Amino acid sequence: MDLQKNKYQVFAAVAEATRKANRPENSVSIVAVTKYVDSSTAKELVKTGVKHIGENRVDKFLEKYQYLRDEELTWHLIGTLQRRKVKEVINYVDYFHALDSLKLAEEIEKRAEHTIKCFLQVNVSGEESKHGFAVNEIEAVLPALEKLEHIEIVGIMTMAPIDAGEEDLEKIFQATHELQKKLQNKQITNMPFSEISMGMSRDFATAIANGSTFVRIGTSFFK
Ligand SMILES: *Cc1c(COP(=O)(O)O)cnc(C)c1O
Repeated sequence: MDLQKNKYQVFAAVAEATRKANRPENSVSIVAVTKYVDSSTAKELVKTGVKHIGENRVDKFLEKYQYLRDEELTWHLIGTLQRRKVKEVINYVDYFHALDSLKLAEEIEKRAEHTIKCFLQVNVSGEESKHGFAVNEIEAVLPALEKLEHIEIVGIMTMAPIDAGEEDLEKIFQATHELQKKLQNKQITNMPFSEISMGMSRDFATAIANGSTFVRIGTSFFK
């Protein structure tokens, strides 16, 4: 595993996809998902110049956070969060990508000591196994979310089905982009909705072509 080389390749591929989409350089942030490796390997990756770290589980997040807390990093919790675990982790999180219910938002509000930047997870593909708000549920929860002072809804997050072909990916990511623009246009206080978290190792180029601003990449760093 050549972390330096993998890092170079991932960043080059993201830059190339950004350029092809006629989008400004550096308009896409790369979150390195370290869930496949131990803390010392994650630290080696950080030494190559990665600035955003993502973990999908609370225990692993805390482990990496403890180990790397002296580095200047931005911390992303990208996976489902159970309400009873919010208090253990939320104050170490810069970005939470999987806000999927109002009840969870209310628990975060209760425990957070600083503003947490959150993405509403949206189940755009309609897959039954996926977490997240249905597209047609979102508008109804906005007034209640708007009242929560420690939560800033920076954007929406989605995941494509694991077996989606290029055409389906394109459809899902395009629909996500449309939804993001619609929500952003509402200009709600505390809810800029300016960001889209979508794209993983397999599909980040398609996600970037469709407006993604945060890609969450694991496998390609650690192959
Ligand atoms: C593991 C994971 C990723 C990274 O996926 P890769 O295919 O390994 O790049 C992205 N997002 C979430 C929510 C994940 O759990």
